[in-house]
Amino acid sequence: MADAIKKSLLGLERSEFAAFVDEFNEPSYRVQQLFEALYRQRVESLEQVSNLPASLRRAFTERGYSVGAPHIASKFQSLDGTVRYLIACTDGQTVETVWMPEGDGGEAGDGTEAGEETSRRWARATICVSSQIGCAVDCQFCLTALLGVKRNLTAGEIVGQVCAVLRDQRVAPPEDRINLVFMGMGEPFLNYDNCMKAVRLLVEGVGIPESRMTLSTAGIVPRIHDFGAESVRPKLAISLNASNDEMRTRLMPINKKWSLALLLEAARSFPLRPRERLTFEYVLLADVNDSPEHARQVVELVRGVRAKVNLIALNPGPGIAFGTPQADRVLAFQKILVAAGVPAFVRRPRGRDIYAACGQLKRTLEISSTEDGRVQLG
Ligand code: SAH
Repeated sequence: MADAIKKSLLGLERSEFAAFVDEFNEPSYRVQQLFEALYRQRVESLEQVSNLPASLRRAFTERGYSVGAPHIASKFQSLDGTVRYLIACTDGQTVETVWMPEGDGGEAGDGTEAGEETSRRWARATICVSSQIGCAVDCQFCLTALLGVKRNLTAGEIVGQVCAVLRDQRVAPPEDRINLVFMGMGEPFLNYDNCMKAVRLLVEGVGIPESRMTLSTAGIVPRIHDFGAESVRPKLAISLNASNDEMRTRLMPINKKWSLALLLEAARSFPLRPRERLTFEYVLLADVNDSPEHARQVVELVRGVRAKVNLIALNPGPGIAFGTPQADRVLAFQKILVAAGVPAFVRRPRGRDIYAACGQLKRTLEISSTEDGRVQLG
């Protein structure tokens, strides 16, 4: 791992700051000062940690330490208010992070219903973070899959995405109501420890309650069990995307390893908190998984799970061999679920004009940079 990443302070928890402060023979109250500066004030450089003596800041820098905050490489504003950020890590690798004011079509992206009126320009917003650079899971309808996996993000890089967006949008939780979804690039459960560490830092340091966070998995079953046992954890979303094993294996090869029976068993035994619901996501692909019969199969599959289903019509993209179903087909699918007592919501596509589907921004940038030798920004 690059030295700059190893010597980044962003991503350290209190016990690690204690060891760091010890290394410099500094008093233990420095731990809290650093923790506050990094996560609450969200400084971008050591110079901004104004309550530390300048000599100490210099000493940190001389030994190669830095905040290590990822920075915004480019920013795309959609007509619908969505902002997509391309965020650069200290080693130059980039990931996508998305800002969605007003959540997702009457939902927060986490499924809570539309909130109270305020005089602000938005009542709440959702940040969608990436967990890996690229992805290894190979879902056939997903653009991130086409990138392959480059590496895991560190906890600091996951928290850093959130800090960068909060700074840019000039908002501060908990006063500003921010939801967080782990639904960007990557499979969070294949980077489990770093994601869970990031969650704890986001809760304790940044001030976003875990109840406002949702983590989405393609179905890494053993990690679903681990996740259920965590004392601090977001809500869980599972990408179902198919109504039977044959179809799911075709769309999501990971289903060969963890079949629908294993996945649904994990969902059924998942320890939900009072009033908590699990979310199943279902990407609708025209004439593949979107028929009334498929909807009835979904009803049978999720029977007995306290859950809701989020339906999303495919966001198409270059290299994806599937089509987007017509709106009436989506509504017919939803109707069958709802009539059978399964809460189902149609998620509004966000920021299509700025390539808003998973992985689209980075992928489309890579294509334009290889096809004509330069990257078109903004
Ligand atoms: N790896 C995790 C989280 C990232 S994907 C997971 O699989 O859940 C987040 C969500 O976006 C998933 O539900 C996935 O099925 C969905 N998705 C992927 N590609 C999409 C596309 N082209 N259009 C619409 N949704 C897509």
